[in-house]
This record gives sequence, C-alpha cells and structure tokens, in this order.
Amino acid sequence: MVNLILFGPPGSGKGTQAKKLVEKFDLLHISTGDLFRYEMGNNTPLGLEAKSYIEKGELVPDSVTIGMLRNKVESNPNVSGYIFDGFPRTIPQSEALDALLAEKQNTVHRLIMLDVQDDEIVSRLLERGKTSGRKDDLDESIIRNRIDVYKSETAPVFAFYDTQGKAIKINGVGSIEDIFNRLSEEVSQLA
Ligand code: AMP
Repeated sequence: MVNLILFGPPGSGKGTQAKKLVEKFDLLHISTGDLFRYEMGNNTPLGLEAKSYIEKGELVPDSVTIGMLRNKVESNPNVSGYIFDGFPRTIPQSEALDALLAEKQNTVHRLIMLDVQDDEIVSRLLERGKTSGRKDDLDESIIRNRIDVYKSETAPVFAFYDTQGKAIKINGVGSIEDIFNRLSEEVSQLA
C-alpha cells in the first residue's frame, strides 16, 4: 500500500493534483471537503452540522470529521492505497489517522506539502469562486480566515509528520503539469 497525505493551504492545488495522482498510481482519493459538500448537498444531519462551520471558513469539529473519515476508509478496505486530501487538519486528526492505519498494520508513508504564498492563494480562490459554486470561495474575509486557521491549527501537522521523517515540501507554483511531474517523482519512489 501507498498512503499519502497531500498537504498545503486552501487553494494550493491539492484537489486538482490528487485527481491526477489517483489515475496514475491507482489510489483512492479521500477529500474530507468533498465528503462534507456531498453531505451538505443531500441535507443530511452531518451536512447540516458541517455547513455552519464551512461557510465561516472554520474547521468542522474533530469528532465529526474523524468519524466520517473512518467510515470512508473502512468502507473501502481493498485498495492499493489512499490519498488523503484536506485531512488531517489538526494534531488530533493526525493521531487518529495514525491509529486507524496502525489497526490495519499500515501507516502514512509520506506527507507532501504544496508550498504556495498567501497572495497567490487568495487570488486563486477568488478566481475559483467565480465557478466553484462554493460560498467559502466568494468572500475575501472568509478566505483570509481559512488561511489563518490553516496557519494556527493545520500547519503543526507538517511538523508532526516531519518528526517521523515523513514530511516533504515541494514548490506548488507553476503549471498543473509541472507540479504533477514534481509530485509523481516523489510518489514513484514510494510505489
Ligand atoms: P476543502 O475542500 O478541503 O478546502 O474543505 C472545505 C471546508 O471543509 C474547510 O474549510 C473546513 O471547514 C471543512 N473541512 C474539510 N476537511 C476538514 C478537516 N479535515 N477538518 C475539519 N474541517 C474540514
């Protein structure tokens, strides 16, 4: 198995690159943001709970997020690996992921961070907001809040995996193909 965390601030290109990586390396893409949007679209109790946080650019509570992630992993046991996109976003989520994979005699093999500066992120997200239909991409103050939350709650996840010798950073600026080539080079070494 190859278990990869695609990491980086909102708008760093995780979703775009994850979609390309799953095709090339035959992995299962798990995006907690996509799972929440699916639940919101179906007006489920989970979706309704998540919505109040997501629309403000805040994190959905760990207990809710970890439970949803566990369900998704456990309902897809026979895969050759997972790409986690947008998860883990806190230290408790990181600990929960490590424990979940350890139960299956497995582990996170690599966390790859897409490095992109704040101003570039804000302009990318405002641009994406014109077509994504996502309320959290429309308002610059919500976008700035998501970046602040990333710095305070999510950035420590990099250090958490760095101390395990698993975290690397790659340049997240450039064409989609260039960034994909940089990522593929790293993932090929794991496969
Ligand atoms: P994303 O599509 O990854 O940008 O996620 C959109 C929003 O969903 C985030 O701003 C959070 O409100 C929520 N969300 C997604 N993943 C997580 C997570 N791992 N923990 C908490 N909230 C999350």
